[in-house]
Amino acid sequence: ADTETTRPRRVLLAKPRGYCAGVDRAVVTVERALETYGAPVYVRKEIVHNRHVVQTLSERGAIFVDETDEVPEGALVVFSAHGVSPEVHRQAAERNLRTIDATCPLVTKVHQEAKRFARDDYDILLIGHEGHEEVEGTAGEAPEHIQLVDGPEDVDKVSVRDPSKVIWLSQTTLSVDETMERVEQLRNRFPLLQDPPSDDICYATQNRQVAVKAMAPECDLVLVVGSRNSSNSKRLVEVALQAGARAAHLIDYASEVDPDWLTDVGTIGITSGASVPDVLVMDLLSWLAERGWGEVEEITTANEKIAFALPKELRRRREDRT
Ligand code: SF4
Repeated sequence: ADTETTRPRRVLLAKPRGYCAGVDRAVVTVERALETYGAPVYVRKEIVHNRHVVQTLSERGAIFVDETDEVPEGALVVFSAHGVSPEVHRQAAERNLRTIDATCPLVTKVHQEAKRFARDDYDILLIGHEGHEEVEGTAGEAPEHIQLVDGPEDVDKVSVRDPSKVIWLSQTTLSVDETMERVEQLRNRFPLLQDPPSDDICYATQNRQVAVKAMAPECDLVLVVGSRNSSNSKRLVEVALQAGARAAHLIDYASEVDPDWLTDVGTIGITSGASVPDVLVMDLLSWLAERGWGEVEEITTANEKIAFALPKELRRRREDRT
């Protein structure tokens, strides 16, 4: 009880957190498609990696499938924010599916880089997580030129044809620091390794990591709202721990907070992944307020103003109607 009275309880709330421009666009795309064409609207893979979002859209008539062969011939399918390989576009065309591509423009940018360097016959070392949808989509642009580098053990496994024609690219949602470590390891093997023309790790990923780093040293506990399959959310937990938080956990909902985590805790840091609607963070704040953590201070490290236009298929449709 002593610790409870002596340790001031407060919450630090990271900003930016939550929805990025690419996620917002992808979610609105499915909502608009439902309004415009009516249910059901098929969506290949989770539109964004968040349980709450997927559940809410399912209730409104979206049907999530793993592959396009589960979509009835001629039906409408939305491709998720993580992007798809050309092979997926081909399969969809073969089944006469109508498609709306909600791939984030910043993922498309990495696809363009992959295509361009493959055309120039480079060996491309793609830093990313094996099995992640984004990596599968990007690698599918030029499978014969791209090798995946996930953990440090992969650095020794890659082989290149001409060490003066090697470039690295990356998944958009990695830890910036860890990626740079991997690049240094690769550069030790291939001193002429080239950097991408611009950063592949996106602004939203970087901004959320900077914000959590700024508050982590003051935190006894950091709670990251996000789903287990969300790459950028998981990275926020790791970055918080590396930056000095005593403990950090990933939760989908406030109800997943284990009361034991709160023992001897004064300052709690809160942030959320790029696929997380802010209502889930607000729920967590109320949950904590009921338990004595009612004082909330927002720690702002950047102001984001970026927004993306909707996919062209929906823009055209809207113009038709007006
Ligand atoms: Fe796009 Fe970045 Fe958001 Fe991914 S995290 S959807 S790359 S803005």
